[in-house]
Amino acid sequence: MENVGVVMTCPMSAYLEQELGNRFKLLKLWEFHSTTHFLTQHSDSVMAVVGNTKLGADSELIESLPRLEIVASYSVGLDKIDLNKCRERGIRVTNTPDVLTDDVADIAVGLILAALRKICACYGFVRNGLWRNGESFELATRFSGKSIGIVGLGRIGSAIAKRAKAFGCTISYHSRTKKQDTNYTYYSNIIDLASNCDILVVACALTEETRHIVNRKVIDALGPKGILINIGRGLHVDELELVSALCEGRLAGAGLDVFENEPEVPKSLLGLQNVVLLPHVGSDTIETSKAMADLVVANLEAHFHKRPLLTPVV
Ligand code: NAP
Repeated sequence: MENVGVVMTCPMSAYLEQELGNRFKLLKLWEFHSTTHFLTQHSDSVMAVVGNTKLGADSELIESLPRLEIVASYSVGLDKIDLNKCRERGIRVTNTPDVLTDDVADIAVGLILAALRKICACYGFVRNGLWRNGESFELATRFSGKSIGIVGLGRIGSAIAKRAKAFGCTISYHSRTKKQDTNYTYYSNIIDLASNCDILVVACALTEETRHIVNRKVIDALGPKGILINIGRGLHVDELELVSALCEGRLAGAGLDVFENEPEVPKSLLGLQNVVLLPHVGSDTIETSKAMADLVVANLEAHFHKRPLLTPVV
């Protein structure tokens, strides 16, 4: 397979680079002056694209690669891949489900605890010597027993629900279809979900339908005591509305792993004490990044050896 051209769209894992480089003719898009420069030299040799949440395979890239057979994403989310174009051209698509579920659910719980118990502000309080000076830290809010509303009860949403259950929380959810295998309360309307929970957690897939699924109406339904947690994608939330709600006290707080224009974060969010901000690290553990890389490689090997794909999407 050393002659099979595989292009990585951006740096994502040194281990993945090494594993791909050991098996395929690995091309690193970011090492070229521009995509045009890369395409001039290699468009005829690329048979696989490996992308991620930053840079996937849009229609322009797909159309520029006449021999492209497979897009293997180093992510579970598919929002950076033009799936219709892949279907049209008969290009296979794989992602990395399951292996990252626990880590993303863990970080969601971390964000909830950090937002409610003001962990980041507490840290600053100790570091800045205020505790030693005899000051007291303000009271925080309890997590145990709260009601959690989950938008998208898929693999990650279900894993968050399982964790929240262990904290004695009640669980409700919104998705397009009611799940038959749970007793959690289902809301076919996200506004009803937001009106009936303390903490709204976004864990659905990003599609045209779910873009800005959390808008002003949803934020107002969640209300001034509500907390918004987003571990899905930044575009799920209307960020301008979120910022104004937080600044105006129409929402109590937020825990965000993802943003609309990553790595840009609205300046006004940076100055707020009632938000916890993470740099899109939901699945970023040593263990999961290796498992994701192994799955990408296994899918590519399966494809080029004409075996069934492990995690096919298209
Ligand atoms: P999944 O198992 O496919 O779950 C996605 C859920 O989204 C499904 O339960 C689906 O339910 C729901 N959904 C789809 N369209 C919807 C709509 N219009 N309204 C409401 N719900 C809708 O995927 P997963 O493995 O749990 O991953 C979920 C997402 O998490 C990924 O797509 C990705 O964007 C994000 N993620 C983030 C990180 C991070 O680092 N922060 C890491 C991994 C994944 P129905 O089909 O019943 O509607």
